[in-house]
Amino acid sequence: MLPTARLTIDLDALAHNFHALRAQAPGAEVAPAVKADGYGLGAAELARRLWAEGARSFFVARLEEGQALRAALGAGRPATLYLLDGALPGHGEALLAAGLVPCLSSLEQAAEWSALAASAGRPLDAALHVDTGMNRLGLRPEEAAALAADPARLAGINVSLVMSHLACANEPGHAMNPRQLAAFRAVRARFPRARASLANSAGCFLGPDYRFDLVRPGIGLYGGGPFDAPDERLAPVAILEAPILQVRHLPAGESVGYGATFTAGRPTRLAVVAAGYADGVLRAFSPDGYGWFRGARRPVAGRLSMDLMAFDITGCDDARPGEMVELLGPNVPLNDAAAAAGTAAYECLVRLSPRARRVVRGEPG
Ligand SMILES: *Cc1c(COP(=O)(O)O)cnc(C)c1O
Repeated sequence: MLPTARLTIDLDALAHNFHALRAQAPGAEVAPAVKADGYGLGAAELARRLWAEGARSFFVARLEEGQALRAALGAGRPATLYLLDGALPGHGEALLAAGLVPCLSSLEQAAEWSALAASAGRPLDAALHVDTGMNRLGLRPEEAAALAADPARLAGINVSLVMSHLACANEPGHAMNPRQLAAFRAVRARFPRARASLANSAGCFLGPDYRFDLVRPGIGLYGGGPFDAPDERLAPVAILEAPILQVRHLPAGESVGYGATFTAGRPTRLAVVAAGYADGVLRAFSPDGYGWFRGARRPVAGRLSMDLMAFDITGCDDARPGEMVELLGPNVPLNDAAAAAGTAAYECLVRLSPRARRVVRGEPG
């Protein structure tokens, strides 16, 4: 059988991280963010295992993600599925059919949901998404205040959650954190019967003030450290490995790959590996990235191409085709790979492509 790149999704590591985050936020419900197909790792498998570990609320972004997640959980795993896109025009009936709870992020959405409740003839749950300074999605605080002051505008809506999102939680000392916290406290006080949620993964690590009733971690569940660095409390969930296709001997002075960006300064043993940017390894992973082979870090040599990349494995003279090189996993932490590529752990995960053969490991849930 021809060797291929392999992406292992470790559900036991996922469960470990779920409990590690729960320990960071005692008293709060841990509601996983499984948008974008579980950050590219497979929302269905992740959510079923998280449900088995006790998760009963999940966050997705798009309507289709919510519908797919409801189908994946099925009737046997009841859960509250929050939709971050909110109630978009024309989506109302589909939200009701899939039992999705919109995170209402504008006055128009609140009006739309209220009208739908009237025509459905029953109260409908919703979260209110309030923007406290990120200026991405959400009601402005004064809009939320206007809704609170005029309950008729929320007629038929059972506001079960008030939420906001932190812009700089990955920088614990950033002045935005306390500023957003203060703004959020003021808003949630206007909705005393609703539960409150502010923290993403990094927010869980900012201390008790940031926890409120429900936390919404994503990247931490998948092994990304809260502060853009590897964190030993979290286990790697995505493990990417690829086989050596060819071992080459490179005389000093010869170059490797497109653009000839790497030149061997000494006689070099090179492992050419069956993975490239078509497998989701970011092209920017060279020149600073490394793989793990036979117990040591091996620097990337030259630019990655679509199907291939090379590592300097000098010293491993008996390396053989078919041996696997780790590209992401316990020895190549997600945050290191992201830093090498000049990006965030999030992007490293969502770029992983279907070409790498997927293997799910651990209890399915
Ligand atoms: C994606 C997202 C999260 C999860 O964030 P992480 O940094 O991955 O923990 C939480 N809340 C909202 C609103 C999001 O968009």
